[in-house]
Amino acid sequence: METTVANQPYQVNEKGYYGHFGGAFIPEMLYPNVENLRDNYLTIIQSPEFQKEYNDLLRDYVGRPTPLYRAKRLSEKYGTNIFLKREDLCHTGAHKINNTIGQILLAQRLGKKRIVAETGAGQHGVATATVCALMDLECIVYMGALDIERQAPNVARMKMLGAEVRAATCGSKTLKDATNEAMRHWINNPEDTHYIIGSVVGPHPYPDMVARFQAIISEEIKWQLQEHTGKENPDYVVACVGGGSNAAGAFYHYLDRPSVKLVAVEAAGMGVNSGHSAATTALGKPGVLHGSRTILMQTDDGQVVEPFSISAGLDYPGIGPQHAHLFASGRGTFLSATDEEAVQAAFELTKLEGIIPALESAHALAALGRLGAGPNDTVVVNLSGRGDKDMATYMKHLD
Ligand SMILES: *Cc1c(COP(=O)(O)O)cnc(C)c1O
Repeated sequence: METTVANQPYQVNEKGYYGHFGGAFIPEMLYPNVENLRDNYLTIIQSPEFQKEYNDLLRDYVGRPTPLYRAKRLSEKYGTNIFLKREDLCHTGAHKINNTIGQILLAQRLGKKRIVAETGAGQHGVATATVCALMDLECIVYMGALDIERQAPNVARMKMLGAEVRAATCGSKTLKDATNEAMRHWINNPEDTHYIIGSVVGPHPYPDMVARFQAIISEEIKWQLQEHTGKENPDYVVACVGGGSNAAGAFYHYLDRPSVKLVAVEAAGMGVNSGHSAATTALGKPGVLHGSRTILMQTDDGQVVEPFSISAGLDYPGIGPQHAHLFASGRGTFLSATDEEAVQAAFELTKLEGIIPALESAHALAALGRLGAGPNDTVVVNLSGRGDKDMATYMKHLD
């Protein structure tokens, strides 16, 4: 991992900003926690002792490096050269554990006794409960009351792993409300609790910290692509964006290589203009959400608009501040895929390659036909997770 370098235009600056986005917009009660984290995170995670434990766990516990797989039949179908980065093969089924492993090691070194987290579909909750079991730390996961009903298997997993699942009963009883409750818990227990945020969102230094823990994805892609093709730079890197952590990890080591096109795919839900969408850059405006200045879906008077997507992991009204900057600066290309297109892409990958992707990852696959990639191009798609958790949805589409 590299230190912050001032002349990297797409990385966080000394003040916690990516261009006009980022910062730490938090209640005064949280200042000591966030300052403690900000002042210590780089020193801790860059220490050789931390790096050794982190990398050993990624290898032996998570199962890294995850393969970079040349998808031959998918490549033929789209007339280009497609590689899948297999984050779906990580322990617990998605990239999220790269981040929770890093944050639990950090929490230990900060002397914390308890972990609090938010979760939507339960994927981040499961990844957090897993590392808490591993490290024997108390774990409290806030989850919207509605999501608790909709995601029974993940609630059961978290409980089996020893976590306490607490229902957020305000608002729409979903992810945004769970995040508010988790933050409130942290404010009330600043001494002994660490808050593990699940994506590249929240006040500085969270977006940078989470991106660094996910940067292992592009670190591996570079040498794996070199082995496959003799070049470490692809022409396109494609990833879905909820908050943006798997995309941030897949983009990280390519940010300063302008020949590599960075393509982020948002969830259009029932259609960008249907009123049931989570296509943040298409619909949103700058504002403050969960502690940072970013782009979010909001009404004219600044109320957060409820997002909608078939995939719970993309059902978020904002994006991380680095992505807002990539969008505003033009460094990133932002596309979207509807529910229907994502489901079709999931069935296509399954039939062509024998891999059932998570619904979130299927949004990235749905953009393959729209990249304009040709026979001489190399495309890396970050397959952020596997589809086991989405079988109930997929079964509705089986005929
Ligand atoms: C949570 C999740 C996402 C969305 O989160 P990001 O922070 O945008 O990566 C994407 N894919 C899978 C499989 C997930 O579980």
